[in-house]
Amino acid sequence: MNAPLIDPFARAITYLRVSVTDRCDFRCVYCMSENMTFLPKAELLTLEELDRMCSSFVRLGVQKLRITGGEPLVRRDIMTFFRSMTRHLEAGALKELTLTTNGSQLERFAADLADAGVRRINVSLDTLDDAKFAQITRWGRLLQVLRGIDAAQAAGLRVKINAVALKGFNEDELPRLTEWCAERDMDLTWIEVMPMGDLGNEDRLDQYWSLKDVRRRYEDHYTVTDLAERTGGPARYVRLEETGQKIGFITPLTHNFCESCNRVRLTCTGELYMCLGQEDMADLRAPLRASADDSALDDAIRAAIARKPKGHDFDYSRQQVAGQVSRHMSHTGG
Ligand code: SAM
Ligand code: SF4
Repeated sequence: MNAPLIDPFARAITYLRVSVTDRCDFRCVYCMSENMTFLPKAELLTLEELDRMCSSFVRLGVQKLRITGGEPLVRRDIMTFFRSMTRHLEAGALKELTLTTNGSQLERFAADLADAGVRRINVSLDTLDDAKFAQITRWGRLLQVLRGIDAAQAAGLRVKINAVALKGFNEDELPRLTEWCAERDMDLTWIEVMPMGDLGNEDRLDQYWSLKDVRRRYEDHYTVTDLAERTGGPARYVRLEETGQKIGFITPLTHNFCESCNRVRLTCTGELYMCLGQEDMADLRAPLRASADDSALDDAIRAAIARKPKGHDFDYSRQQVAGQVSRHMSHTGG
């Protein structure tokens, strides 16, 4: 039975985000602590298991796969996995294979990604200032990422920049980042900082910069037109008439986008999260490993989708982090 995945609220699940590793070569302050303990390798799905898992979802109607992490391009032999997904693109079942990356390894992998059928990628970049880049990523080097973006564009990949909006950190860079993206024909999306993981010594409420304010900043400089375009996710888009540029706003905390949610998230250990803002998850690794035949896995996927909740519980409105979930973005994949 390959009937499509429809959840109890009549939403078709067509989009799977897959975290292929919890490891990363950066330690962004809003995402990880400096001393992370990563999962033992044996806990991770192997590349073959990731293939089986994703292939099952594609067979059940998933049309878009976004590969994320951790940093997906630091997983050893990850190109083997990308190449194995090419067959689903060629068969027409999969419409889009894409990834979200910090860009550090793109110089090495951009051409291979394009060869595997990747057409568009998201690169996370919060600042164009060397020192600030080092401060926010702790371990990253800006030049390496800029070279990676060059390589991606040279390979014909369409690049979108994702910047986390951080109060007092990149507020003043809004015009510069926007112009830089326009010059390079890249769209730009701002992400509201989310209360993921332990707040530790970086209190994310202090860094919280409302995207309503970000939008207002644009309105001071440009003619801003709302676009109807929706992706089934938390992003809203506007066009800047002066540059023709598309600017996105991802506001999972202040907007209710759940009614059009078409996505689920798979962790690198095979846990399926049905909602980014809820703790409920289904273990798909056990049914996957239980048999070489995919029927138990398919049943487990269907049972999980039947539990997809109507919406999430995030709420910043009372100046406390209500509905905070304890896992890190690097675990579920941003
Ligand atoms: N390492 C890759 C990268 O940085 O693009 C992929 C994984 S990362 C977890 C995916 C996205 O989540 C990045 O754009 C990152 O900026 C974002 N992110 C991480 N922690 C966040 C947080 N607390 N709030 C909002 N966005 C966050
Ligand atoms: Fe790594 Fe991406 Fe998290 Fe930064 S946001 S630490 S690059 S996983």
